[in-house]
Amino acid sequence: MKRIGLLTSGGDAPGMNAAIRAVVRTAIYYGMEVRGIERGYAGLIEDNVIPMEMRSVSDIVQRGGTKLRTARCLEMMTKEGKAQAVKTLEKHGIEGLVVIGGDGSFRGAKSLTEEFGVPTIGIPGTIDNDLEYTDYTLGFDTAVNTCLDIINKLRDTMTSHERISVVEVMGRHCGDIALYSGIASGAEIIVVPEVKFDMDDIVMRINRSRASGKHSNIIVIAEGVMSAEEFTKELQKNTTHSVRPTCIGHVQRGGSPSMADRMLAAQFGNKAVRLLNEGVGNRVVGIRDNKIIDMDIFEAVSMKKTFNHELYETLQMISM
Ligand code: ATP
Repeated sequence: MKRIGLLTSGGDAPGMNAAIRAVVRTAIYYGMEVRGIERGYAGLIEDNVIPMEMRSVSDIVQRGGTKLRTARCLEMMTKEGKAQAVKTLEKHGIEGLVVIGGDGSFRGAKSLTEEFGVPTIGIPGTIDNDLEYTDYTLGFDTAVNTCLDIINKLRDTMTSHERISVVEVMGRHCGDIALYSGIASGAEIIVVPEVKFDMDDIVMRINRSRASGKHSNIIVIAEGVMSAEEFTKELQKNTTHSVRPTCIGHVQRGGSPSMADRMLAAQFGNKAVRLLNEGVGNRVVGIRDNKIIDMDIFEAVSMKKTFNHELYETLQMISM
């Protein structure tokens, strides 16, 4: 393969830039040329293609966001849109495509493979950690660390005023950000889409913690369940302690990637290009049991994300 394309798509995630760098540098190592496609599939359809050289990716390993920018693109879901995307690839002599994004972006890559025979490699770049085939997605660790920083600060003020903090984190269908940031911050309660919550049980746990000498409580809620504002209103009807909502919001998507995310980015990007260099396409890369793996893209997108109930029970046992 002489020339490959690279795009970032869907929601941005810290570590995408580090992955872009790893893809470009590995490709150059193998003597391949790289074309960057700006604004995800929208840029592929609209022919926003730029050359990527060794120095195009200097000084970005530590930066959040994505240098190639990203977009959501409904046109990519249409026959005409996909045909136009393929025309752009042909125009630039791009023989294989690396797609950094979440499951939606992988579906786009899969359709380019399935319907047009374009070899694609997917790199899981999403803060949600909502892909079953990989233990971690790129950006998740940094996003959770951002939540921890904010929850630590909330704990200080909640304890001073003996309040309950309801903290809303991202996760429409997947509660992993809430689960990990809840456990790692010492939150007493997490509320996730995968487990039905019981307000009486939550109030009982709060009362029990107060009776044992605790002066504050943290409840981490995933956005997919309800907003922090709504949950606060419900909870306030059931407790005399004062409850305060905080929505962490888009801060979770930004910031310098953590060591863990930079390491994933380096390995995912490198592996993706190694595969293309070996003439292998239609795969996604990931990490499982601390080993970098690759898997058929069709299989990966059909797997349903499971929730780690053991970790959820761990929180129930150690946070009180
Ligand atoms: P995140 O997990 O951060 O939301 P994502 O990659 O899942 O990232 P989506 O908005 O679901 O984000 O998808 C990104 C883009 O991928 C869409 O805007 C669309 O262009 C393309 N895409 C999604 N699903 C399909 C599909 N079934 N066929 C073709 N393209 C698709």
